[in-house]
Amino acid sequence: MNERYAFKVLEARWRSVWEGMKLYHTDEELGKPKFYCLDFFPYPSGDGLSVGHCRNYVPTCVYSRFKKAQGYNVLHPMGWDAFGLPAENFALAQNVHPSFTTRQNTDNYRRQMKLVECCYDWEREVNSTHPDYYRWTQWFFLLLFKRGLAYQAVGSQWWCPECKTILANEQVESGLCWRCESEVTRKDLKQWYFKITEYADRLLDDLETIHWPEPIKIMQRNWIGKSYGCDAYFTVEAGGKVHPLPVFTTRIDTIYGVTFMAIAPEHPLAAVLTKPERKAEVQDYIEKAKRKSEIDRMSAEKEKIGVFTGSYAANPLSGEKVPVWIGDYVLLTYGTGAVMGVPAHDTRDFAFAKKYGLEIREVIRPKDASATPGGEMAEAFVDYGQMVNSGTYDRLTSEEGIEKLIRDMEKVGTGKRRITYRLRDWLISRQRYWGAPIPIIHCERCGPVAVPDDRLPVLLPALPDFQPTGTGKSPLSKVESFVNTTCPQCGGPGERETDTMDGFACSSWYFLRFTSPWARDFPHDPEKMRYWMPVDLYVGGAEHAVMHLLYARFWTKVMHDAGLVPFQEPFATLKNQGMLLGEDGQKMSKSKGNVITPDEVVEKFGVDALRLYILFIGPFEAELKWDEQGIRGVYRFLGRVWTLVTSGIGPAKGETDEGEFRRWMHKTIRKVTRDIEGFQFNTAVAALMEWLNYFQDQQFRVASDLWKEALETMVRLLSPMAPFIAEELWQEGLGHRGESVHTLPWLGWDEAAIQEVMVTIVVQVNGKVRDRLLLPADVSEGEVREAALASERVKKFVGEKTIRNVVVVPGKLVSVVAG
Ligand SMILES: [Zn+2]
Ligand SMILES: [Zn+2]
Repeated sequence: MNERYAFKVLEARWRSVWEGMKLYHTDEELGKPKFYCLDFFPYPSGDGLSVGHCRNYVPTCVYSRFKKAQGYNVLHPMGWDAFGLPAENFALAQNVHPSFTTRQNTDNYRRQMKLVECCYDWEREVNSTHPDYYRWTQWFFLLLFKRGLAYQAVGSQWWCPECKTILANEQVESGLCWRCESEVTRKDLKQWYFKITEYADRLLDDLETIHWPEPIKIMQRNWIGKSYGCDAYFTVEAGGKVHPLPVFTTRIDTIYGVTFMAIAPEHPLAAVLTKPERKAEVQDYIEKAKRKSEIDRMSAEKEKIGVFTGSYAANPLSGEKVPVWIGDYVLLTYGTGAVMGVPAHDTRDFAFAKKYGLEIREVIRPKDASATPGGEMAEAFVDYGQMVNSGTYDRLTSEEGIEKLIRDMEKVGTGKRRITYRLRDWLISRQRYWGAPIPIIHCERCGPVAVPDDRLPVLLPALPDFQPTGTGKSPLSKVESFVNTTCPQCGGPGERETDTMDGFACSSWYFLRFTSPWARDFPHDPEKMRYWMPVDLYVGGAEHAVMHLLYARFWTKVMHDAGLVPFQEPFATLKNQGMLLGEDGQKMSKSKGNVITPDEVVEKFGVDALRLYILFIGPFEAELKWDEQGIRGVYRFLGRVWTLVTSGIGPAKGETDEGEFRRWMHKTIRKVTRDIEGFQFNTAVAALMEWLNYFQDQQFRVASDLWKEALETMVRLLSPMAPFIAEELWQEGLGHRGESVHTLPWLGWDEAAIQEVMVTIVVQVNGKVRDRLLLPADVSEGEVREAALASERVKKFVGEKTIRNVVVVPGKLVSVVAG
């Protein structure tokens, strides 16, 4: 064997050996438990992988190897989410066809993942842009269509002028396109939607059944946004007519505090309610509001600006008349386009009332407040409390008041209980080229008709000119041979739908495909799907908290209802890795020039050092900074392991306590096992380092078979994390040639060997025995002293006295002198 740790040689040798023995082939051996470990379906970007990605892929690789060693059949696949806007935009920027850039990028990703020796079963690789994959994406679209869950509607849609496409609500982040960060506008277009709103309650309730990080669950709950409240029917008289002016509120307990109403500038009643003498001012205001973006209108920092219409609305409870204002902080797209202004108990209303000198009337007081009100309010009190200045409802708590008010209003017809959701239907169609064509044929006689199953897939035509048209129509509309067809129902002329599907459709079912990617007559082999699903461990970035995870859960529920899958949730456990920042502490990005690639690290330090450092760098979930000193330390550790194993196993001089030596070994096995199980890789690596520090000095001092056992244990515990060095040391260094360390079962530990020898220590206070402590034999003097002084009995007998002296007789006695 080489005396020095020459990682390049090992890597080249073992890669080809492992490939030859199909080490990562998925076993489906009967009678074994299964474990499905899945990484988020990556979009292969043109930049390739950075070491940041390794924080996702290395831990799942280690975990998969670990589970396999524990006797599980493990499914750990990889594939490409390669349709969609980012891929198409990248191709446009490169001025080449997306099918070409997709192949280039997936090849590079695969190469890098193999470089890092991620244990994916490449026989199961899938690619969402291949017809044998998107055929089933289309099939699922039709499943939703046939179940009445896909429909077309004309609506005002978010439109990104830069990407020239419609965006779903989820793809607009504070008024900006989620991809290119241009400000979005609105456009009226006919679109396809999935009725995800029909599943809102189930998507909410079933969150309780899965092991996901709480912040992700909270984001999903907020996105679904279920709120319990009621409509209150305000009315307003104008032009000799009484107009209803309903508002939705979750805080009907504040209705006696309403001192004004605010309607959106676009509200249909805006013109009707404006008194002639105010017309000029109102029109001027509306013009200005139109030019503002919704972000500015909604922003908490921006000043709330409004204009009085001259009309007054009647409070359905008190009958009181309050002025109706137009306020640009009210949006027509949310709720009813009108809000009741309660300045004392709503922050925005408070700011608005302050600016225009409107009354601020306190009707909720903190439950624990003293009886006397404290004069003018400095800010809105927005919490629940006790009702005051509210007629017969005084002294009720907010919770009681809400219930009673809703019941009373329903009785007389001035209001109605209502549950609202923030969730909107999923806008699925895109006017872009690079996606799965929507498998629908429009017929004048029959309407939208599903393409029959046996005519799927609807192939995406190879279009050289795939630029977005910017007219709101997909580039496919330019291909006559694609558009013109016959109606499958009546045989008359038909036109194909030219929109393609949102990329999120592809990732809403891919986890099923991995269970049997070769299935021809079905999206998956039902038997394999039942064996492998649901995914036991799903790992990826928290940025997918809403869209992908919500959509995949929705599709799964639809499949469940159609009798296709026996489970309701696809991902039993979810984990999100923390971000890896550049050495400068900033997010890695090409523009900042601080991206570190696995390629350059592997070249310098080898794959094992990269993997081990990624695991050692810190807690899995934490945001951490890359540090080259850190990887040097890990590299040195591997070098020390190498030297120790290769430096021979000599005769023992019998100078070491072998019980102690064994205890260390078994404690380390237990610690590493439990830490990997708990995704605490950093402390698992640290435990191996500490152990090595202890036992490297014991060479030639313990019996040679025990010494060899320790070396073998070290190598086996390292094997899922640092696969190359472990294999080389196992086969060449420790004499197991022909037996791969990666096929061995996971090591168990001997609990009895871990039990430390305990001794009883007597504690005296002023010469009298007051307590007996059971402590490990090797505990230090300081620890014995601390344990003695912490004893309740000792404390009792010392009492108020001052401790003058503490004498420790190791292994026997502690004597406390107090006086
Ligand atoms: Zn955009
Ligand atoms: Zn027809």
